[in-house]
Amino acid sequence: RDDRDLLLSRIRDVADYPKPGVMFKDITPLLADPEAFSALTDALAALCEKHGATKVVGLEARGFILAAPAAVRAGVGFIPVRKAGKLPGATLGQAYELEYGTAEIEVHAEDLGAGDRVLVIDDVLATGGTAEASLELIRRAGAQVAGVAVLLELGFLEGRSRLEPSLDGAPLEAL
Ligand code: IMP
Repeated sequence: RDDRDLLLSRIRDVADYPKPGVMFKDITPLLADPEAFSALTDALAALCEKHGATKVVGLEARGFILAAPAAVRAGVGFIPVRKAGKLPGATLGQAYELEYGTAEIEVHAEDLGAGDRVLVIDDVLATGGTAEASLELIRRAGAQVAGVAVLLELGFLEGRSRLEPSLDGAPLEAL
């Protein structure tokens, strides 16, 4: 409860960003507060342990900032899922729909495999499209999905329902 209030108090609403009509949730005040950032890292690391994750996937770009310290604290590996064209090695790619057009994310194929249980971490779950594509990548790499953990879920966008089929019973945790 106390941590939840602390985290909420460090998220800033920015109106009309990145375009008119959008209320952007800005987590930079939370990152700048060592007490809040540490509480968030503890909470995410606890979710790794709770769901038996052996690896953490962070979604570019803010997911990296949250997932990396959580992985270190939980004692598991960190795997970046990046926008297409950024990873130097052999990759698996997954395209997904945006409001206008499509996007593609990639992971190094050798980073995930049978025996891995993967927790996906990002800052905000909006429509769920990015997280959904990451779950496809994890499964195609032959690994198991331990769950998805986000700081914030924007409930009115109904990402949770979109994600449900690809979660296939795995938990979606929104702090
Ligand atoms: P989705 O694919 O629609 O769920 O969008 C999620 C992605 O967009 C995440 O990687 C978020 O970092 C980013 N995103 C969407 N809305 C916000 C926001 O209000 N604040 C910060 N990031 C956001």
